[in-house]
Amino acid sequence: MKSFRKELWFDIPTRRAFINITPKVEECLRESGIKEGLVLVNAMHITASVFINDNESGLLHDFDTWLEKLAPHEPVSQYCHNSGEDNADGHLKRQIMGRDVVVAITNGKLDFGPWEQIFYGEFDGRRKKRVLVKIIGE
Ligand code: ZN
Repeated sequence: MKSFRKELWFDIPTRRAFINITPKVEECLRESGIKEGLVLVNAMHITASVFINDNESGLLHDFDTWLEKLAPHEPVSQYCHNSGEDNADGHLKRQIMGRDVVVAITNGKLDFGPWEQIFYGEFDGRRKKRVLVKIIGE
């Protein structure tokens, strides 16, 4: 069995953003040379997410609006976590959107359902953060 590991780095200038990272994961897959197996993609920070959904700008905007209703950033004083920090909403948003995804690899390609793409969700940006890509298989 082959194994491949790579970290993708992000330095997003805004507090919140969504990035389609599918091309980066496909690049890792090509680099790995693995044709049959599994890829795990996970955020390495507790205020960021990796999730799969539709690559459609309206939907990404809807996610942001929905998350901001569930866990508004302001007022920061509403959260117990924000005694020395201001990112409690980022922790909550990450919990809803998830830490990681696993995708099957078939014939050297990500074996997606219709319209599926992999996204990085940033909820406390303006600093360097990482995503782990781990691929195992043959
Ligand atoms: Zn925090």
